[in-house]
Amino acid sequence: MPGKVYLIGAGPGDPGLLTLKGRAILERADCVIYDFLAAKDLLRFCRPDAEKIFVGKRGGGARRPQQEINQLLVAKAREMGTVARLKGGDPFIFGRGGEEALALVEAGIPFEVVPGVTAGVAAPAYAGIPITQRDAASSVSFLAGHEDPCKEESAIDWKAAAAASGTLIFFMGTRNLAAIAARLVAQGRAPETPVAVIHWGTRPSQQVVTGTLRDIADRAAALEPPTLIIVGEVVNLREKLAWFERLPLFGRRIVITRTREQAANLREALAELGAQVIEIPTIEIRDPASWEPLDNAIRRLEEFHYLLVTSANGVRSFLSRLRASGRDVRDLKGILIAAIGPATAAEFSKTGVKVDFIPQEYRAEGLLECLDSHDLKGKAFMIPRAKVARDLVPQALRARGARVEVVEAYETVTPEIPAEELERLLTPPPDLITFTSSSTAANFAKLCGSRPIADVLRGVAVASIGPVTSETARKLGLEVAIEARESTIPGLVEAIKKHFRP
Ligand code: SAH
Repeated sequence: MPGKVYLIGAGPGDPGLLTLKGRAILERADCVIYDFLAAKDLLRFCRPDAEKIFVGKRGGGARRPQQEINQLLVAKAREMGTVARLKGGDPFIFGRGGEEALALVEAGIPFEVVPGVTAGVAAPAYAGIPITQRDAASSVSFLAGHEDPCKEESAIDWKAAAAASGTLIFFMGTRNLAAIAARLVAQGRAPETPVAVIHWGTRPSQQVVTGTLRDIADRAAALEPPTLIIVGEVVNLREKLAWFERLPLFGRRIVITRTREQAANLREALAELGAQVIEIPTIEIRDPASWEPLDNAIRRLEEFHYLLVTSANGVRSFLSRLRASGRDVRDLKGILIAAIGPATAAEFSKTGVKVDFIPQEYRAEGLLECLDSHDLKGKAFMIPRAKVARDLVPQALRARGARVEVVEAYETVTPEIPAEELERLLTPPPDLITFTSSSTAANFAKLCGSRPIADVLRGVAVASIGPVTSETARKLGLEVAIEARESTIPGLVEAIKKHFRP
């Protein structure tokens, strides 16, 4: 039984431009074969056990012969079942997707094509250039710019291209830019025709240079591939329509240090504002060495008057052990539930159970204030959380006569990142690093090894989620440039936005 190959368009770089169908196939594929242009970010949708094979050329390296890629597709389909062949942009636009499909037909392997958002459409869109526009352009041509335009036997009809009044879009033309412009002028296109060259369109590193057929080669000389070259009057619209580069965090490189699982909302919020997000997780969440302390506390649930949750991880562990013990949320009846902040409370509320206390101020101190009016004498608290968390809350509760059981619900460890890898992630130096808890800051210092953290982060602005985290950062020798007014992820994002656009 042969498998099936899906030729999937990965879009031009912004991972949000993958289609829903493409994503659904990635999520179930046994094997993913991807290119240089297909955003690596998309691999996060793959099954963890899926085989991932890179077949693109990197840097100046040699490209794998197409023949070899075709054979690989056939072999993997036979061996593994569902193969996702992830290609930059759209598979059938200068993507050699047609050749791959033909090879599959020849080998009798079923296939499907999932179109993608081609760079030919997306890069101009992100550069603020409508490729058709009433009065300016009523046709568009996609052209291959990699062949020598001076060649006698050109596959491109240069005369027709030059004469066309519509927009011309050249793929793979970076190295030939001067020759392309010269050839168009030689064939009669006006030298004043506007041109835009877009490097890595739709990515946070997008760069756009504009000029005319006369001067574009000089102006864009510094741009490296991949670039898309747009020729036509529509380029002038960019001046008014360049929305992407005007996003508040466009071009900013921002490091986030949360766990991979928790990073998503911060990453997405920053990316939406145009930032380039670099993930350096400083915390990894693991199951505790033993569930017994938590299981034991859950068996004695009725003894407790209060359940206090201090992180989404704590909530998840608690609820999963509750289920594992054969109990469920109905057994929480009569127990008052307090959360340290809105995100933790929201995690709990997913069960449909109401959280009784969420402090105004999102820190331990706020939580204690919330319970100010309660007589805690003889009251029993369960706090499922990590072992190393701050001890402020249990101490304060005990001082008020409460009986507090802190039970280990998860363990946090600092992941190992080799020095060279860290160096690579921090080159060129980012504009900003975010710390969303004291441990992210402390663990980042650990990751720096023998080098002082202040040295590693020289010139990088520090953004902290709140006063406690700021204090930890300062103790480590860092200067805190930004502190969230409200200690939440949206609060932090707001403060970062203000910092760059006061
Ligand atoms: N199938 C792809 C094109 C592959 S050919 C698609 O539909 O987009 C490779 C060329 O695509 C590059 O040389 C460059 O001209 C263009 N290209 C791909 N991604 C790009 C991007 N993000 N920005 C600018 N050009 C890009």
